[in-house]
Amino acid sequence: RAPRDLFATEGRTNSKGFDLSDEATLAEIDAARNVPLPEAGPITLRPATGTTCDVVNPATGEVVSTVLEADEATALCAIEDATTWDAPVSERAQVLRRAADLYEANAGLIFATLAREAGKTLADCVGELREAVDFLRYYAGQAEMRGDRMDARGIFTAISPWNFPLAIFSGQIGAALAVGNGVIAKPAEATPVIASIAVSLLHEAGVPKAALQLITGLGSTVGRTLTSDARVGGVVFTGSTATAQSIRRAMATHMDPGAPLIAETGGLNAMLVDSTALPEQAVRDIVASAFQSAGQRCSALRCLYVQEDIAPHFIDMLKGAMDELCIGNPWALTTDVGPVINQAAYDSINAYIAANEAKGALLHRVDAPTSGLFVAPTLLKVSGIADLEREIFGPVLHVATFKAHELNKVIADVNARGFGLTFGLHTRIDTRVQEIADGIHVGNLYVNRNQIGAIVGSQPFGGEGLSGTGPKAGGPSYLTRFIKPQAAPEAG
Ligand code: GLU
Repeated sequence: RAPRDLFATEGRTNSKGFDLSDEATLAEIDAARNVPLPEAGPITLRPATGTTCDVVNPATGEVVSTVLEADEATALCAIEDATTWDAPVSERAQVLRRAADLYEANAGLIFATLAREAGKTLADCVGELREAVDFLRYYAGQAEMRGDRMDARGIFTAISPWNFPLAIFSGQIGAALAVGNGVIAKPAEATPVIASIAVSLLHEAGVPKAALQLITGLGSTVGRTLTSDARVGGVVFTGSTATAQSIRRAMATHMDPGAPLIAETGGLNAMLVDSTALPEQAVRDIVASAFQSAGQRCSALRCLYVQEDIAPHFIDMLKGAMDELCIGNPWALTTDVGPVINQAAYDSINAYIAANEAKGALLHRVDAPTSGLFVAPTLLKVSGIADLEREIFGPVLHVATFKAHELNKVIADVNARGFGLTFGLHTRIDTRVQEIADGIHVGNLYVNRNQIGAIVGSQPFGGEGLSGTGPKAGGPSYLTRFIKPQAAPEAG
């Protein structure tokens, strides 16, 4: 089992803050808002071929850029041309730190891209840039601590998600590069522009072009090619559990049996609020955990358990807090909830809500703008986590109640789903914290705080079971699977 971490305080990031009340910063961000975004496409040693598609802003429907979706031939050329990064570790670390500085220096363009391509709110843009910068600096430092004795595995395929299209993208690449691997990065279909910007900045910082190539395109074509080739030495992936399973099958057929798959996948995360919890604090943390980033985090809260004695009043408070959420324009400083990523997500989340409404499970839904892909934050009544069909990647929270003597059953029901990413606990009974920490199978357990936004370096993030393979991202053991295991010294 992956080590379980218990976090009872909110973390801090080490990178530069962006003071959104500072006029100069705001002016810089505002100026970036209308700049044309660069075109996206593969960045490989040889000219790429493929099909050109539009990149659409999910809040407005506006076409913000175009992307060249590469074909399999381009992916195969990238594999052929890829090389490891054979510089001393101190030099690689210095280059990654320089890239982090360049990310910060380009904050305006990065925020504009995250907001317009991925629909991120300004607060989420700031958090994401800081996490990306932290990943680059942290893995640079971790690699330096290991020194030059480690052996790179070779060429890594890095497949990253659209929900953290800069942070997770940079974390995967930064880890693989820091220890001397070459990387071919395949970003999510929905977010190729930010990936292209990031790779350009990494090259500008000094990462050799053959050691870092970018392939934009479909998972079903280039993603498949990059995960079924014997010349690839490992895959790092964040996305759905089903995709991770199909990557594992492809790797098993085509790759060296020792090639690692480092996967961070889905979650069905719960929180338990008992009758000793501080209601105002718990409500605030629930709203953040379930609805920030429009619920599009794998760490997000999906199923809330409230102790029956306090439930009526507590759920009323939660509804009141939901009514205060501002939903809409990601650029407004006052916005809490932006759009979901694309039309398909919008349609499927709304269909799920409608089906539950028809069953009589709708507890509350707030108003949301009707133009743009804004899904209204919604509360659904369930009898427990067993009722959830699947992970709904959006602002939908399921609520159940429990009686004091049912605590062990709640823990058993959550464990029985097989995921194991985050769990939230609001209580002021000290022994209960330990009891739950001992019983719950998750990577990250959060006590009396929200359950999203793990911080690189101080709160390693990752799950067990269907939620991922480990090691935890942003933690001291993450790099171990990007290098060859050290040979055991010969006996005698
Ligand atoms: N690391 C993020 C968090 O702690 C979640 C990552 C994800 O959604 O993939 O909220």
